[in-house]
Amino acid sequence: MPNGMSHLFIPGPTNVPDAVRRAMNTPMQDHRAPDFPELTLPLFEDLKKILANETGRVFLYPSSGTGAWEAAITNTLDRGDRVLMSRFGQFSDLWVDMATRLGLDVVCVDVEWGKGVPVAQYEQHLADDPSIKAVFATHNETATGVASDIAAVRRAMDAQDSDALLFVDGVSSIASVDFRQEGWGVDLAVTGSQKGLMLPAGLSILGVSEKALEASTRTGMERCYFDFADMLKTNDAGYFPYTPPVPLLHGLRVALDLLFAEGLPEVFARHHRLAEGVRRGIAALGLELCAAGPEWYSDTVSAVWVPEDVDGAEVCRIGFDRYRTSFGAGLSRVAGKVFRIGHLGDLNEVTCLAALASAELSLADAGAKVELGAGVAAAQTYYREALAERESRSRLPRADESK
Ligand SMILES: *Cc1c(COP(=O)(O)O)cnc(C)c1O
Repeated sequence: MPNGMSHLFIPGPTNVPDAVRRAMNTPMQDHRAPDFPELTLPLFEDLKKILANETGRVFLYPSSGTGAWEAAITNTLDRGDRVLMSRFGQFSDLWVDMATRLGLDVVCVDVEWGKGVPVAQYEQHLADDPSIKAVFATHNETATGVASDIAAVRRAMDAQDSDALLFVDGVSSIASVDFRQEGWGVDLAVTGSQKGLMLPAGLSILGVSEKALEASTRTGMERCYFDFADMLKTNDAGYFPYTPPVPLLHGLRVALDLLFAEGLPEVFARHHRLAEGVRRGIAALGLELCAAGPEWYSDTVSAVWVPEDVDGAEVCRIGFDRYRTSFGAGLSRVAGKVFRIGHLGDLNEVTCLAALASAELSLADAGAKVELGAGVAAAQTYYREALAERESRSRLPRADESK
């Protein structure tokens, strides 16, 4: 084994903090024991804080994020229901594929990769077609590093008096960037354990609004494993309808404690700061992001166009073979054209500088004309300024102290 650690900059799974890893290394225990709810009930409550879901519920399924997509659809929609979706990257594409295969009548707006949810077109569709039962939005398209404005989607729905359910894929945004299930009127919010929550894959998390819960009692497709009703029967007492992945739940406990100790606003600010430094570094290398403009920038993943004569897959291969760094490859339509730097979860400024340094090396070796050190220097300059500014802000008297 070579010395030192490997560097993981894919946008999921993300790095698992040591404390979380240690917490998962536990003897197996009885998931029907009287003390089990002491672990689970606070988890349900704390996940609601992560989602900013005050009045609804959170369900935890032993699956990757895709399982929560399926749970959300099968519990609240019927075969043949008309739904409004949009597609602008691998993950939004897969969601459309699932909805189609489950028999929904999908109205899909195709958007140029690099942009996100087309709010004005959504509003037009809602105005033209009152039969739309659900609106789907991918909050953060992980394939292109594009974030969308979910509050604006809700405003468009409200402007058309739409009664549709709002489904949001927050797998690569929730717990890393601001997310407000209640505030944005999100009926079904999907995430997974291996991104912002800094755990291995294996738990999907589904925030459900009261309205969606109510819908699940009168509609929905055939479902069994994912049935909300079975979850409800057991979850209130702190149990599951089947064997839960207990070590992951112990890991989740510690991951949530870490996020709350840092403070969610500070977690979101950190992700923004780290992302901004990476963006400045990319720009200083003369490279461009797949995201078509600042309004689409993602604070959790940057997808970078490689120069025309360079193969993005080669950048990733060199990164892995020579520099023990994993970057995200370009997926489907942008395969070979972009490589991705995941910057979410357990990382800091110096971690991101390492990502940029390794990207510079890999790009140069793959034939790109980049100036070694230019990206790192730009990010260093930004991080110094941003951290100094944060410190001076925290020294100012707070409003409540100066009274
Ligand atoms: C990771 C991811 C998913 C879910 O993938 P799983 O492999 O099933 O966990 C869904 N949507 C987005 C935007 C993602 O980033």
